[in-house]
Amino acid sequence: MEKLVYIIDLDGTVWEDVPNEIAHSHTKSAKLFDNAIEWINQKYDEGNYICLFTARTEALKKITEDKLNSIGLNYHQLMLNKPRLRHTEFKGYHYIDNCAVLKSSRFEGVWSDLVEKNIKITVFNDD
Ligand SMILES: [Mg+2]
Repeated sequence: MEKLVYIIDLDGTVWEDVPNEIAHSHTKSAKLFDNAIEWINQKYDEGNYICLFTARTEALKKITEDKLNSIGLNYHQLMLNKPRLRHTEFKGYHYIDNCAVLKSSRFEGVWSDLVEKNIKITVFNDD
């Protein structure tokens, strides 16, 4: 099976959305999405690299690591300071890289098996 680097958001993806502004008081009790831990830990066990990429700041590092330890999530790397979309004019992320970005999946509330669908994507016009 192909091994991948999974880059996974935390708030609103692994657990309920907790804005940075209230993260100190609400992280510990934040409810996990069903199957999130099992899903990610399975990818970890299969030899994939798990990178957690969050807009949480350095000030929230300790409470975030404590939460991750308490829920038993296996990961290789925690990356803080992802550019925030909340309270900005920006609508989303557009990732550009010379390495293969093989897959991209918007999480919409259910950690299920991944399936293939035919959708339109935006690519560089390099034909
Ligand atoms: Mg999020």
